[in-house]
Amino acid sequence: MSEQGSNNASIEVSIHASPLPASMSRKWRAGVLGATGLVGQRIVKLLADHPWFELTEVAASERSSGKSYAEAARWHLDAPIPEAARDLIVKGLDPSLDCDFVFSALDSSIAGPAEEDFARAGYPVVSNSRNHRMDPDVPLLIPEVNAAHLEAIPLQQKLRGYDTGFIVTNPNCSTAGLVLVLKPLADAFGLEKIFVVTLQAVSGAGYPGVASMDIHGNVVPFISGEEEKMESEPQKLLGKWDGRRFVDAGLGLSAHCNRVPVLEGHLECISVSMKKIASTEEVREALRNFEVSPELASLPSALRHPVHVLDDENRPQPRRDANAGHGMAAVVGRVRECPLLDIKLTLLSNNLVRGAAGAAVLNAELLAARGFFKDRSLAEGELLAEPVSQ
Ligand code: NAP
Repeated sequence: MSEQGSNNASIEVSIHASPLPASMSRKWRAGVLGATGLVGQRIVKLLADHPWFELTEVAASERSSGKSYAEAARWHLDAPIPEAARDLIVKGLDPSLDCDFVFSALDSSIAGPAEEDFARAGYPVVSNSRNHRMDPDVPLLIPEVNAAHLEAIPLQQKLRGYDTGFIVTNPNCSTAGLVLVLKPLADAFGLEKIFVVTLQAVSGAGYPGVASMDIHGNVVPFISGEEEKMESEPQKLLGKWDGRRFVDAGLGLSAHCNRVPVLEGHLECISVSMKKIASTEEVREALRNFEVSPELASLPSALRHPVHVLDDENRPQPRRDANAGHGMAAVVGRVRECPLLDIKLTLLSNNLVRGAAGAAVLNAELLAARGFFKDRSLAEGELLAEPVSQ
């Protein structure tokens, strides 16, 4: 698929047609918890054309359950509701869905126990929500950054008494882009301190989100819990799994988070100090040359080069660049010297795709490729076929 930026404000995600791996005889059946929300809708849309996954279940609150998906979802995307989803009946959060694994795009008020219920009932849970991100046995995953953290899953299953189920999370929407940019810099030069100021889109707050009277023609210099997430999640993501626990990266990190009247795409102004001295050109090259492994490149939603570096001095911009790499790229511009730390740059990442739905789908693809999913219909079939004791 093309990895170029786009000037199209309508953010349409597409997935490249990676064939089903030899280890899969059919598509994995996916359920989406919180399918009616902003992130859930994006996941539903991504699954409509997915070469490895097929949407079989949607679940949400009591407000929605029992209705058809088309009735229950206040649809926000420009493209119509996928045909395969329209007539699905929205279920509640009972962990008895007809699927092999679930995505969770649940509101954080409910996600914590609901995700545990599903994992305990045997479902792999691929979550967007913040509730379990910092749990000591739960991988917080960006495949391009810390795929090795999946090694924590067997210990999580053992400690929690889960059988085939487990929980894997993706980071907060502003952390996702930040860490994608920090990773190649950490590898090439080593990192010491990061100072970041965000300008975050309203869609990051879900629907209906921030009241229009509060944000129209305004900037709100506070997003509850966001600075704490941005200062803690990168430490886990850029840290290591040592076989028993996650060891933090030990970075100095300070974040200021602001809500701005932009619909989609979080902009971040970042300054970094590095262990090794590097010129702005060397930093640009390290970002531009960041390339994923062949294993990751073969995943349907992956970009071979997930960081795009723009040369125009007035880019990236949310309206012009939020669709770069079909919303999966971290778009960097204005790489220059920083008089306080070493280097400063501007980053844009799509909060709903790279920071949420696309991130979760990519995580699920890596889990599928590495054999973490089990065919739950077979398990049920086997149970049904068990001989009745005389
Ligand atoms: P949203 O638009 O408010 O959607 C929330 C979803 O949760 C809806 O499907 C809603 O169902 C469901 N829900 C709420 N209360 C429930 C309950 N008691 N029982 C069952 N389902 C319930 O939020 P969002 O922006 O999609 O975010 C979803 C999750 O992803 C949140 O945890 C958020 O923090 C996280 N996240 C969001 C972004 C972003 O950019 N927006 C980025 C990264 C992570 P009903 O429609 O039936 O009420």
